[in-house]
Amino acid sequence: MTEIIDGNAVASQIREDLTDAIETLADAGARPGLATVLMGDDPASETYVNMKQRDCEEVGIESYHVDVDGDAPPETLYDEIGELNGNDDVHGYIVQAPVPDHVDYREVIRRVDPAKDVDGFHPENVGRLVAGDARFRPCTPHGVQKLLEAADVDTEGTDVTIVGRSDIVGKPLANLLIQKADDGNATVTVCHSRTDDLAEKTRSADIVVAAAGVPQLVDGSMVGEGAVVIDVGVNRVDADNEKGYELVGDVEFESAKEKASAITPVPGGVGPMTRAMLLYNTVKAASLQEDIDVELP
Ligand code: NAD
Repeated sequence: MTEIIDGNAVASQIREDLTDAIETLADAGARPGLATVLMGDDPASETYVNMKQRDCEEVGIESYHVDVDGDAPPETLYDEIGELNGNDDVHGYIVQAPVPDHVDYREVIRRVDPAKDVDGFHPENVGRLVAGDARFRPCTPHGVQKLLEAADVDTEGTDVTIVGRSDIVGKPLANLLIQKADDGNATVTVCHSRTDDLAEKTRSADIVVAAAGVPQLVDGSMVGEGAVVIDVGVNRVDADNEKGYELVGDVEFESAKEKASAITPVPGGVGPMTRAMLLYNTVKAASLQEDIDVELP
């Protein structure tokens, strides 16, 4: 029987475990605070930001939000970032991507105080992660690691194939999984759009992580017998329903399930984990800034 890894359940446990740490901090007068910054009015981004605020409320994290006009010059956004860097109530914040075309996202990230960079995208945090001394693990890769742990998958000595080399998923996950650590010690192959014979690389893996943004790219014929399949992809495809679309992953679930020993669904797999790990990083940021030790899940 293939195990369907329930991301909602794992994320919900992590949120519950975080609640104790949040109360410890709040009792010491240091309730964790997370801010979201949204430049422009992209509807998907608005939805993500709203969800992040709701998540905060549920666990007792104070949430703040800053809207920046989509036509404003980059300096307006930089000013807001400067304010947040100096605001002691805000322990962490994220600038929701994508930013408008006239704004250089890399420059935006460089201006975020690395101690408040709960996305883990600042070059200092990327460097620390690669060096094996991560301050904040980026939320999606960290969520993938927590899902593997929850499914009792020991990564040590396994062959992992990651499909996708983005800065937010593929690259940091590869770096985490090769660390000399209990949740690392894997041998990782990172595939991308120029990879030759992708199927051969996924088929030989013990663990396949699909993060390409291509609907149902990985089907059962590309999965080895007994492999663990983690589907990071979230893609909108046209559907004959009320909304006119449905969400599908980068994995063709039904055929991959036939081969896999464990697999994540979409929705309900990696997505809820990404949200939970943002809360985790916010609590960690507050703990570090306030110099109050808390137990993290
Ligand atoms: P991205 O577009 O930045 O990167 C995609 C990567 O996939 C690139 O490295 C590209 O080279 C590779 N790729 C594209 N087509 C390929 C192909 N045919 N064969 C092999 N490699 C190919 O994407 P991203 O931001 O990393 O996101 C990837 C997917 O994960 C998207 O569907 C996104 O929506 C989803 N995502 C989900 C979460 C979550 O919380 N569930 C978080 C982040 C991203």
